[in-house]
Amino acid sequence: MIDLTARDIKYITGVGPQKAEILQKELQISSLHDLIYYFPYKYVDRSRIYQVSELNGSMPYIQLKGKIIGFETFGEGRQRRLVAHFNDGTGTVDLVWFQSIKYITSRYKLHQEYIVFGRPTVFNGRVNVAHPDIDKPEDLKLTSKGLQPYYNTTERMKRSFLASPALARIIAIALQGITEPLRETLPQWLLSQYHLMPLTEAINTVHFPTSPDALRKAEYRLKFEELFYIQLAILRYAKDRQLRYRGYVFSKVGDHFNTFYSRYLPFELTGAQKRVLKEIRQDVGTGRQMNRLVQGDVGSGKTLVALMSMLLAIDNKFQACMMAPTEILANQHYETICAFLKDMDIRVELLTGSIKGKKRKEIHEGLLNGDIDILVGTHAVIEDTVQFASLGLAVIDEQHRFGVAQRAQLWHKNTYPPHVLVMTATPIPRTLAMTLYGDLDVSIIDELPPGRKPIQTIHQFDNRRESMYQSVRNQIAEGRQVYIVYPLIKESEKIDLKNLEEGYHQICEAFPEAKVCKVHGKMKPVEKDAEMQTFISGESQIMVATTVIEVGVNVPNASVMIIENAERFGLSQLHQLRGRVGRGADQSYCILVTKYQLAEDTRKRLEIMVRTNDGFEIAEADLKLRGPGDLEGTQQSGVAFDLKIADIARDGQLLQYVREIAQAIVDEDPQGVLPKNDTLWAQLNALKKSNVNWASIS
Ligand code: ADP
Ligand code: MG
Repeated sequence: MIDLTARDIKYITGVGPQKAEILQKELQISSLHDLIYYFPYKYVDRSRIYQVSELNGSMPYIQLKGKIIGFETFGEGRQRRLVAHFNDGTGTVDLVWFQSIKYITSRYKLHQEYIVFGRPTVFNGRVNVAHPDIDKPEDLKLTSKGLQPYYNTTERMKRSFLASPALARIIAIALQGITEPLRETLPQWLLSQYHLMPLTEAINTVHFPTSPDALRKAEYRLKFEELFYIQLAILRYAKDRQLRYRGYVFSKVGDHFNTFYSRYLPFELTGAQKRVLKEIRQDVGTGRQMNRLVQGDVGSGKTLVALMSMLLAIDNKFQACMMAPTEILANQHYETICAFLKDMDIRVELLTGSIKGKKRKEIHEGLLNGDIDILVGTHAVIEDTVQFASLGLAVIDEQHRFGVAQRAQLWHKNTYPPHVLVMTATPIPRTLAMTLYGDLDVSIIDELPPGRKPIQTIHQFDNRRESMYQSVRNQIAEGRQVYIVYPLIKESEKIDLKNLEEGYHQICEAFPEAKVCKVHGKMKPVEKDAEMQTFISGESQIMVATTVIEVGVNVPNASVMIIENAERFGLSQLHQLRGRVGRGADQSYCILVTKYQLAEDTRKRLEIMVRTNDGFEIAEADLKLRGPGDLEGTQQSGVAFDLKIADIARDGQLLQYVREIAQAIVDEDPQGVLPKNDTLWAQLNALKKSNVNWASIS
């Protein structure tokens, strides 16, 4: 069988060394395999006129011929859209415009014949075509070519005669040159059971479809495979771990837990906190190693759940550790935990990169001889030099900076791997959680502690700054504190600092009565901490900052969050920032400041922020608006995310479906020994070798 990954594209007729180099540089295509797995992003069929009756939700760009039988407008203001009902005698389809409504209605006449060109999609159960091209029938030119593939190319490729049609030609030649069938990547039984197109046919069809129907089947097969293998890898890994490692049994709820609960806990747990604690207790009682993700919106009280789980570990003669992504957060956790436990006989220590010398040595010793019960820290905690007497539970706060691979590092700290509890305030839609954290069980804290008033969010244009400052002044006069956040773009830290400095001076001038502190990522940790400390202690009333305050910082007295240039932030980030306020009992406000001119999707983002405080709703919307590749944290998550054909936002159902299939396979063949599954494990290994992201799953 030929190995396509070993075949250099420069030997394909019409490519040669120069074009090969460009393809490599611009699209990372170097082998024949890379090339045929570079899929079109759209298809156009100008070979014929389609009928409305044959349209469905996954079609190429096509032409229709018919008449507009009526116009309708829906929505108000920015939501306004124009719908033209277009009929060709076989049915009616909606043509939709969000812009140029006046122009369209005056330009196109009712009951006159037109050619419409666009891509049909299904929305709310109706087929529609958004922003189509409309021509007179006499302008219609049919080509002899059927479905034409369109490939994404770069400016440099276009300059070097490698625009989409040229690339299509090269791919056609390459495919013709492959005379044997491709090595099938799914087992035969799976193909027939789930009615999947064979690989060779699917690859040929996805580049050069013979019909929309064949295209749909080819895409389905390739998406199925792509999502299926991700799930198989994750579930196989989880099963492996389950077979290989036993977990410590925390059999009893003892003195520490009970004393804390009955004597020192200053409030009643919420129902959700109780439920999640119960789930955790169940896990750690089974003899299996726990791997649980606790998702809860900012302020939902995850830290307390973590703390009580750690008490459970201590009651069973184990140590516990808690890791945060930054020093500031680690500090804050340390202080919170010390405050909660101050009257109990539990030794808590803090370990971060800046703790050195004698103190560090002391901590290392205390961990080894079992004197230290709880260690709070940063990544420093997982360094090899840090050894525990009996680590039983590791809590990881803010998962998205902590990939699967890093979690695995924890396991060398004791005979068995410790139980792992991951906390995240980034609500992740279910479909995405399944891909990102597929090996974790998920608990959700979906209830805020009582007495919190929902944060009021306001969108404000920057020319109304003075009136905004007046409300801020009122808040400060009432003793409240205020955050003002400026965006940070990685590529131009200098400009950002300038923004921040200017903002800082402006604020100092506008609020002579207040003390203003300033925090940004370029400061030395000591300086930064000192500045933050003035805010935490209440000495300063306004904090001017870049997004460094995004995660975790807890100042309940802060009641206003102003986000400057809010148009430059993503939804999840805005939500995270907003979560810094609304932590006390007072009414809190989040003010999103933007310029007046905004792009459509930006306006949508801001509207969602104003409308809802629900992190899950926001995460779903974010996924739909931006696609998963951009979703906060997914890049660092260590899971394969450069999907070639599937789309997590749109293919959620398929993802769920293939996950169930993969789960059944792993359950039936946990050791990976059944001959009928040979192809699966071989393919899984091949994927791991060829893709760094895949390798990090195991
Ligand atoms: P998260 O980590 O989920 O953002 P925290 O654990 O920091 O939230 O909790 C936010 C605040 O709410 C803290 O001040 C905490 O002490 C308080 N808190 C937690 N649980 C409760 C509860 N059940 N009732 C009242 N206040 C609570
Ligand atoms: Mg927290």
